[in-house]
Amino acid sequence: MVSSPAAKEIPSLASATQHFFREAAIHLKLDPGIIKILERPQREVTVQVPLVKEDGTLEVFSGYRVQHSNARGPFKGGIRFHPSVDLEEVRGLAALMTWKCAVVNIPYGGAKGGIAVDPKHLTKRELKTLTQNFISMIMPVLGPFKDIPAPDVNTSAETMGWIVAKACELADDDVRGIVTGKPIEIGGSLGRREATGKGVAVSTLRLLKWLGKDPGKMRVAVQGFGNNGSYTALYLAQAGCKIQAVSDISGGLYKESGLDINALFQYVQTSDNHLLAGYPDALPISNEELLETDVDVLIPAALENQITVANAERIKAPIIIEAANAPVTPEADVILGKRGITVVPDILANAGGVVVSYFEWVQNQQGYYWDLDTVNTRLTMIMHRAFDDIYTLANEQHIPLRKAAYVIAVQRVARALEQKGMFVG
Ligand code: NAD
Repeated sequence: MVSSPAAKEIPSLASATQHFFREAAIHLKLDPGIIKILERPQREVTVQVPLVKEDGTLEVFSGYRVQHSNARGPFKGGIRFHPSVDLEEVRGLAALMTWKCAVVNIPYGGAKGGIAVDPKHLTKRELKTLTQNFISMIMPVLGPFKDIPAPDVNTSAETMGWIVAKACELADDDVRGIVTGKPIEIGGSLGRREATGKGVAVSTLRLLKWLGKDPGKMRVAVQGFGNNGSYTALYLAQAGCKIQAVSDISGGLYKESGLDINALFQYVQTSDNHLLAGYPDALPISNEELLETDVDVLIPAALENQITVANAERIKAPIIIEAANAPVTPEADVILGKRGITVVPDILANAGGVVVSYFEWVQNQQGYYWDLDTVNTRLTMIMHRAFDDIYTLANEQHIPLRKAAYVIAVQRVARALEQKGMFVG
């Protein structure tokens, strides 16, 4: 019987992000004033969003937009709809976006937003009205050159379409570049849907290349088979990796000779059922067992805080690629480091989505749309460059990849602040 991660030491994403920022700031001997600026968001907006429901009753939902830093460019980050959304969570996610955009060196700052709502309890019409009411209230702080939201948990391309409609109406202008992750028909980019998984796969293959390992000999386990995990598994299978285990919320599947990822991918695209119902030719395993499987590469691509002090000693994979945000707690990260396990951090591994969001925004400004090959070639180029910068720094300074990623990101943001004359009275 495999025990699940202990609940007691689970930190919030905000405190984990803050921890890694401080570690990098100390390493860089950053000016205390710059640390003060960057450890807090630049602006926080809280609004109470009214919604008249279809039955005539009035409900009010708390909405947030936190803008962490725009030192390197407009604020950028998703909007999520979830009952657990609060200011603390949104703050952490906003800072994470600042570091992620800086790691891949795209000209954005970081932000995040959300509404504390369970979208399952609203009709589609109610959800559209709630979204548009929220946008009306935070519109003063948004704009294609100010702050650019995108989809996140429980929001989608369709939600972005509703935002474009409301923003264009309020601005009396074509401001479709105000969000990314839009449907293709209204200015979205080819390749956006698969971009995060593609970026995770590109990062994984780049690491294997640096380590001199043949992808064809790699056994891989992927936790989570949603947008991120399914495309990651698909691209790695195409590169020759043997995907031995995958999972979703219903549990996992294991097959020593490798799962048929194409078949599973098709199954989840066309069925509302969970993974376990779709593939009889494999051993059912739990999510906890998947994390401890004897594979060469483990890719948590579902949720935060999956590898904790409770299971870090039992992880067998020598390589972990963080496709999800914050799947490894800071305490577990230390244990993995001592055990010689290489961890490719989330701010690098899953940055492919925001890179193609950036491409979408560029295409909106140009009014000229790229083909899929152009998108993928440029995505791969940016991911390789970011990976190589981090890998080289980590090797030169004998520090873990996560620390190297934060050092590069924090230094880029700090330099931008300095070059804007922060110290010139
Ligand atoms: P998704 O909703 O498409 O998929 C989530 C997957 O995780 C599903 O297969 C779901 O069944 C599974 N899951 C949910 N609860 C689980 C549990 N308790 N145990 C195991 N599996 C569980 O979400 P996504 O977009 O694929 O995002 C996954 C992770 O990647 C999140 O951490 C997200 O923040 C991160 N991420 C996603 C993107 C993106 O563009 N999609 C970008 C950056 C980071």
